[in-house]
Amino acid sequence: MNIHEYQAKQVLKGFGAPVAAGVAITSADEAEAAAKSLPGPLYVVKSQIHAGGRGKGKFKELPADAKGGVRLARSVEEAVAHAREMLGNTLVTAQTGPAGKQVNRLYIEDGADIARELYCSLLVDRATGRVSFVVSTEGGMDIEAVAHDTPEKIVTVAIDPEAGVTAADVAKINAALKLDGPAAQDGETLFPTLYRAFVEKDMSLLEVNPLIVMENGRLRVLDAKVSFDGNALFRHPDMLALRDETEEDPKEIEASKWDLAYVALDGDIGCMVNGAGLAMATMDIIKLYGKEPANFCDVGGGASKEKVAAAFKIITADPAVQGILVNIFGGIMRCDVIAEGVVAAVKEVGLQVPLVVRLEGTNVELGKKILNESGLAITAADDLDDAAQKIVAAVG
Ligand code: GDP
Ligand code: MG
Repeated sequence: MNIHEYQAKQVLKGFGAPVAAGVAITSADEAEAAAKSLPGPLYVVKSQIHAGGRGKGKFKELPADAKGGVRLARSVEEAVAHAREMLGNTLVTAQTGPAGKQVNRLYIEDGADIARELYCSLLVDRATGRVSFVVSTEGGMDIEAVAHDTPEKIVTVAIDPEAGVTAADVAKINAALKLDGPAAQDGETLFPTLYRAFVEKDMSLLEVNPLIVMENGRLRVLDAKVSFDGNALFRHPDMLALRDETEEDPKEIEASKWDLAYVALDGDIGCMVNGAGLAMATMDIIKLYGKEPANFCDVGGGASKEKVAAAFKIITADPAVQGILVNIFGGIMRCDVIAEGVVAAVKEVGLQVPLVVRLEGTNVELGKKILNESGLAITAADDLDDAAQKIVAAVG
C-alpha cells in the first residue's frame, strides 16, 4: 500500500524527522488560509498523487508551457493562483502512464532554500536479507538514470538488524553524501530515525528524493514516498487508515476484497493462474511468443468457485484485455473448481474475447469435461507452450 507525500511526512515527523510545515487542501478556497498559516515568503504547492516525477509532469488540460505539478510561489496570492490552476486537472508524469492522474489534493508547504539535493532510500535488500540505505549525492532527479549512467555514484549501506544503525553506518552514509558540519550532525539523528520508522511501521520502501541540505547547512526531508508491506498492515491500523482508494486501480481493490493477487500491466492478454511462480512463467512465455500480459490474477491454492468467478470477472473487466489465458496447475487447487468458476463467470458476464485454458493436475479430466460440456467457445491447450502459442495466435 502506498500513501501520499503529505501523509508520509506526517508519519516521519512523528518519529522526529525534519520536515517543513505544510497544509493539505482539497479545494482552492482553502489555499489562502493554508498559505497564510505558513511563515513564507517562499511557498511550494505540491500535487498529491501516488506517483513521482510531479515536478517535471505536465497537466493535460493546461498549455504545454504551463508549470508542472510541484510549483514554487513567492506570495500567498501566487500560491492561491497555482492552487486554482492545478486542482481538478490531470497530471501526467513519467510514473503515471499516459492517462495521468487527477489532482484532487494539494499540499502547500513552507519553501526551503536548497543548497544541495541528495537521494536517500531504505528498502529490504533481498541479496543480504537486510534493510539497506541506498544513497547518492545525485538527488532530485531520476535515480534510475543515475543508476544506469553513473552507478558508482550510488552507495548501499546494509544495516545489521541486531545492532541497528551504528555510528559507523552513519559515518558511511554521511561520507557517501559528502555531509559535514551541521548537516553531518543532523545525519546522526536522521538516519537512525528513518530506519526506526521503516522497521516499526513495516515499510517496504521509504524514499526521500530529494533529501536536501538547506542554505543554512541543515538537512530536511523535501519529498517522501512510503510503501507498506501489505502482509503486515494488519499490525498497523493507523497506517491502514491512510489508504486512499481513489488512487488505486478499482480492479485491484475488488481483488483485495477476495484476497486475490491481481496486478495490472500494459499488454493485452489477461492471465488467470495459481501461484506466483506459475504467474511469472506464464508471463514470460507470452512474451516469448511476442505478446505482452495485460494483467495477472493469482487465485492461489484452494480457491472456491465463487473466488475463481470473481477473478475471471476482474480480468474481463479490463478493456485492454484482447484475450485470456487460464493456466492452472492443480495441486491443492482442483481443476473442476477452476472450470466451474470460469463457466459461472462467463455465463454471467459473457465472453467477448478468445479464451484459452490449460489445466493440469488434480481432477483435470473432470475439469476438461465441465468446460467441454459448457458449450462455451473455449480453446483447450495441452501444455504451457501450446497454451501461450494458441492465445497469442488468437489475439493476433
Ligand atoms: P517529484 O517531482 O514528484 O519528485 O516532487 P519533489 O517533491 O521531489 O519536488 C520536485 C522538485 O521541486 C525538487 O527536486 C526541488 O528541486 C523542487 N522543490 C520542491 N520543494 C522545494 C522547496 O521547498 N524549495 C525549492 N527551492 N525547491 C523545491
Ligand atoms: Mg521527488
